[in-house]
Amino acid sequence: MTMLHNSNLHNFGSINLDHFYRVPHLVHPGETLASRSYHLGLGGKGANQSLAMALAGGQVCHWGRLGRQDAWARDRMARAGVDVTHLELVDEPSGHAIIQVDDRGENAIILFPGANHGFTRRHRDALCEAAKPGDWLLVQNECNALAELLECARRQDLAVAFNPAPMSDTVLELPLDACQLLFVNRGEAAWMAGLPETSDAQALLQGLQKRLPQTATVLTLGSEGAWYQSGDERHFQPALPVEPVDTTGAGDTFIGYFMAALQEQRSVPDCLALAAHAAALGVQQPGAADSIPSRDDVERYLT
Ligand code: ADP
Repeated sequence: MTMLHNSNLHNFGSINLDHFYRVPHLVHPGETLASRSYHLGLGGKGANQSLAMALAGGQVCHWGRLGRQDAWARDRMARAGVDVTHLELVDEPSGHAIIQVDDRGENAIILFPGANHGFTRRHRDALCEAAKPGDWLLVQNECNALAELLECARRQDLAVAFNPAPMSDTVLELPLDACQLLFVNRGEAAWMAGLPETSDAQALLQGLQKRLPQTATVLTLGSEGAWYQSGDERHFQPALPVEPVDTTGAGDTFIGYFMAALQEQRSVPDCLALAAHAAALGVQQPGAADSIPSRDDVERYLT
């Protein structure tokens, strides 16, 4: 698995605004409940992965859509180093999540995809025109029009890294053989391989290989570490022994750091190690985008 020297990475990704409400209990039907606190955070798997890549020192161009009233989110991504040239501000509601968290840490979430589901042929064509053969395209499953995008990427000879999260039936209908690299957690791997979630890592890897023999896979298993598989090549990276406070976005931090290391032409074991250290720092902080560590902190942790 390599990334050519001067190749760019285009992330076709969701941006969500996360509205957090701290409540004594999750709201019941018919109830009006006062929230104890409110916090607005930047999220969405696409935005998190772009931020992680940029904080890792990588070059990433984010192709996304955001409501005009929420331009602060674009500015925040730009300040972190994300190229936002192709991040469109539109007269639509941004994708957003209404998140209640109760005293026991249980949550209930309403997700509205908003502008993340407004991609059209125009966006796909613009991306495929801007990208050159050998460039990487990173995609998650929170935006629409993915099948057309993957077909276009194949025609343009782009290398595709796909993270099918959050998992849905439609993923299985995508032209997945257009993907060079797949990032999956346990649940996503089991779904794609048609196996129970309780299957062990080896069975999941074998199942994925059977389904997509040409695609390299990174299988992340939370505190049980991560595997890389490409043909006969396999590498294992243990998770770091830490006390997690919030594992939201662990996978996104992992993916962003892995792709940035790949862009630096690091070896796969090095990419895995950097990503695992970044994710381990991330799970010790609350929030998703807010918990992504800086490259300096990750390097200090590695030594
Ligand atoms: P996702 O967030 O997509 O469900 P995972 O839970 O598999 O992804 O986590 C991704 C990576 O983050 C793991 O492979 C591991 O490196 C790191 N990680 C996640 N949870 C923990 C944890 N409790 N302790 C240490 N590292 C963790």
